[in-house]
Amino acid sequence: MTSLPENQQRNYAIFRDYLSTALIEKISRPEPKPKRRSKSKKATSSSSSPKSTQDTSSDADLNNADDLADFADYIATETFRALPEQLKTVDYHEYTQDATLQARFAQRLPLTGASTPTILPTLDPTVADSLSAYSITSESTQGADEFLAPILTAFLTALGTAPRAPRATLPDADGCELCGRDWVPLSYHHLIPRFVHGKAVKRKWHRAADLENVAWLCGACHRFVHRFAGHEELARRYYTVELLMGEEAVRRWVEWVGRLRWKGR
Ligand SMILES: [Zn+2]
Ligand SMILES: [Zn+2]
Repeated sequence: MTSLPENQQRNYAIFRDYLSTALIEKISRPEPKPKRRSKSKKATSSSSSPKSTQDTSSDADLNNADDLADFADYIATETFRALPEQLKTVDYHEYTQDATLQARFAQRLPLTGASTPTILPTLDPTVADSLSAYSITSESTQGADEFLAPILTAFLTALGTAPRAPRATLPDADGCELCGRDWVPLSYHHLIPRFVHGKAVKRKWHRAADLENVAWLCGACHRFVHRFAGHEELARRYYTVELLMGEEAVRRWVEWVGRLRWKGR
């Protein structure tokens, strides 16, 4: 376990979850989408684009679950340490009722890469170096500040979000219903996504009574499920945990992410 003081552990766990989810996403999706930068005509020849020839060879270490867990733990700890002191311990009520904190952080969301240094002025430069060394970031596409901005945004948003009232289904879940990890924050996934509830009933895919069926998932698995299939496909083919687990791609993911163990666990 990290050597953070007891009163920082709660916020650290939130932060680490967002950070590791972002890392996992980067690693499990080797091809960045190059289309967005179509405006820039600078890189006409392929020689100036390291991404295209890089393949996955330099990421090899992070495909190992133990190495990835160590890496995520290290990046999360170093980054968390650089946060303003108040953010390390503040809870929902303190955060939302403190006008200074609100003006300084909550009212500036979403953060962009340019604001990362103002939130993390003392961030150890080795963090940026490490992210770059493992091809998580790169000068030409997304630097460390840009990588960290949405993570900080998600963390600050979580600090300002009222803790959810426990739902009837929560006590049933003693861990992520896909990967089984039981110490990461869970969120509920509507097995029949809300977006298609109307359609699902009208076309008799499901009974109205089943629309609120949820699975409790960790952040990484939740994002995976939504990358795996669209709303309609989830509603029609994958409306139970068992149906999801019936797919080999899901089982492979679950096996991989389930091996991620943070230090001290
Ligand atoms: Zn999971
Ligand atoms: Zn979901």
